[in-house]
Formats: sequence, C-alpha cells, structure tokens
Amino acid sequence: MTLYLIRDDDGNATTDPTRLERAYLPLLDAGIPLNFSIVPEVRLDTLGPDGRREAFLNPSTTAKNACATLERRTPLAEWLRAHRGQVGVMMHGLSHERRRGGTEFGALSTSEAVRLMVRGLDVLERALDVCPRGFVAPWDAFCRESLGVATSAFDLVSTGYVDRIRLAPRSWASHLVERVSGAGVVAAGRGWVVRHPGCVFTADTRGGDVDGILSRISADALVCVVVLHHWMFWGSGEPHPVIVELAQRLRGKGVCRVDRVIEELDSLAPGWALRRAAGRGAQRILGGGWNRLGVGESGATRDFSGGRA
Ligand SMILES: [Zn+2]
Repeated sequence: MTLYLIRDDDGNATTDPTRLERAYLPLLDAGIPLNFSIVPEVRLDTLGPDGRREAFLNPSTTAKNACATLERRTPLAEWLRAHRGQVGVMMHGLSHERRRGGTEFGALSTSEAVRLMVRGLDVLERALDVCPRGFVAPWDAFCRESLGVATSAFDLVSTGYVDRIRLAPRSWASHLVERVSGAGVVAAGRGWVVRHPGCVFTADTRGGDVDGILSRISADALVCVVVLHHWMFWGSGEPHPVIVELAQRLRGKGVCRVDRVIEELDSLAPGWALRRAAGRGAQRILGGGWNRLGVGESGATRDFSGGRA
C-alpha cells in the first residue's frame, strides 16, 4: 500500500489562515490530513526571478521589518495549533530568502546550515508547541553540507531529485535501491529522504486530469508526496477543481501526517535497502507494493543508517 503525504509549502507569518482554510476546505471536510511546511521567519523583501515580490508573501504586509517571525499569537500559528489533530507541520527553510546562489540552503557551510536550522526549530517550537520532524528546503535546493545537517536534525527530509554525491557514503546503497525501484525513499542520517515527483498540480491543472496524475506519481512510490502551494489555489472564493478532485480521489487512501509516515518508514524491516540491493537483485525490487521492500520481515539492524535518536 502506498502512503500519501500531502505537503503544502510556503505558509508563513503573513499567511491568512482563513483564506488558507477556505482553499483546502474540501480536503479538510473529507478528514484528509494535510502537512504544512512552514517558513519560520520569512524574509519580506525576497523577490522572485521575475523581480516581483514572492507570491507567498501577503501583498498587504509592508516590509518595514526585514522578517516576519511566526509567533504564538500569529493567526497562522493559532490556526495550526487549533487543527493539530488533522494537520502536520514541517519546517520550510528559515527565511526563504535567496541567501546565496539564488537559494537559501543550496550553498552553505555546515555551521551556517546548523545555525539556520536551530533558529528555525526554536521559532516553530515556541509558536506551535511541537518540534517538527520533517524538513523541506526552499526550491528543494541542498548542498552536500546542508543536506547532511538536515538528515542529522530531522527524521524526514522531503525533496525532489537527490544526487548520490550529496549523500554520505553510507546512504549510497540505499540511494541505488531508490534509483532502481523508484520507491522514492532513501535511508539517510537519522531517518529518511523522501523524493517527490515535482509540482505536478498547479492552478492550470484541470480537475479531470487529477486522477491520472495521481496514478502516475504513485505507481512505484512507497510514499507518494503531493506537493501543493496554497497561493496557487486560493485565487477565487470557490475551491479550486484540483483540490475538489484530490479530496474525492484520496478519500479512503493512506493519506498521513508526516509523523505517521516516519513511523511507517521506521517500521520497515531493518536493513531492507541493503539486503535487497546486495542479496536479492533488482528484479525483486522492481515488484509492486510494500512487500518488495521486506515490510514485516525481521533481520539485521539498520547499521547503515547512522545513529538515530
Ligand atoms: Zn517554498
């Protein structure tokens, strides 16, 4: 069975939770869990490649301060705390600014990445009373150093394509298995790097295409990550056809909050990636479903994963 993780990016202190809730009402009403990857301390003067202010910044927010920090009394923080039973929270960078090379985490030293992540975790924990276990880099941009810190600090890192060269050598076998199987999950650091197929749902996607897209992106995936951006879907007062269709198609499927996804991945047979890669060959890996990865089997300890807390 494929697990589904719905990830909404770019929520921040300027985000209007009333509008956010309205955009996702079909999913919320269907009892489908959502995960919000939140920018802890959003930079207010960040511009997109077109020179315009980033679309995830509330246009009515003036940039008299450099950043807007998520605080306990911030409306979005209050909404997230009130909906804790249905929504999960991940950390989306620290400020979502183009710090270096057009990205926030794409060109950092280890000490710089540590400093940003510690600050972000501190902000989110104070505002939300939870310490997020998942991380999303703005624009999915990591360097080897920042990915190393992220996989040491978080149980789940959600990203697009991940190069082997950006991973520690102890993750290379797991990475090979991921490339062959298309399962989208690599054991790394203290937990898991979970790949997504890109931003396949946008405001231009037709509702009638949603089912086919879901089938395609979930075909081989152990965890099918559905990446959404609320600011693409909240243009009109009515729910967007993509969100309406997702609510219908995902009802009754294994849609989870991020903490549950981590638990399910942790329950995989210890050492599944290495044993499958080394001993059973690609044909077995290419079979369908969870069983190809040895769910429920017991075996050697996951000695390639590094020290997991
Ligand atoms: Zn973003």
